[in-house]
Amino acid sequence: MKKWLLVFSLSSSLMACQPDEACVDTQTINENAIEAKQVPPETITGFAWMQTLKSGRRDTLIQEVHFEPEARHYWHYHSELETLIGTTGTGYYQEKGEAIRLVQPEDTIKVKPQVVHWHGATAASRFSHTLIHSKANRVVWLTPVTEREYDGYH
Ligand SMILES: [Zn+2]
Repeated sequence: MKKWLLVFSLSSSLMACQPDEACVDTQTINENAIEAKQVPPETITGFAWMQTLKSGRRDTLIQEVHFEPEARHYWHYHSELETLIGTTGTGYYQEKGEAIRLVQPEDTIKVKPQVVHWHGATAASRFSHTLIHSKANRVVWLTPVTEREYDGYH
């Protein structure tokens, strides 16, 4: 059901397109990935790669991040709201001072601005998620998630 929210949101984006914007329909969005690159190693433990998708809106950035098992972003926070939607595999999400949460396909997490957190794959599974945020978003990278923190899921 949450996937439908994404489709709806993309459809809404299409309706909001201006004539001079590059608009795509949701069926072809994966064919319209405009960029596929390795996630910068100074922001992650392990290996992940990232595709930036055309959103149909100039102010919105949609990215798909694919983590290898055990790969996870460093602790970080955003200047703008981040919406995270699990797409394949099983991942982790944790806010500073809170328990680690499992993220399954279609799980949606809204990360408020300035909240210190990390996301990544479990040790047993690859994991992919979609990230949606404003192009005005800035990320402040902090320290790596330690093995002890990473192993803290119970
Ligand atoms: Zn984040």
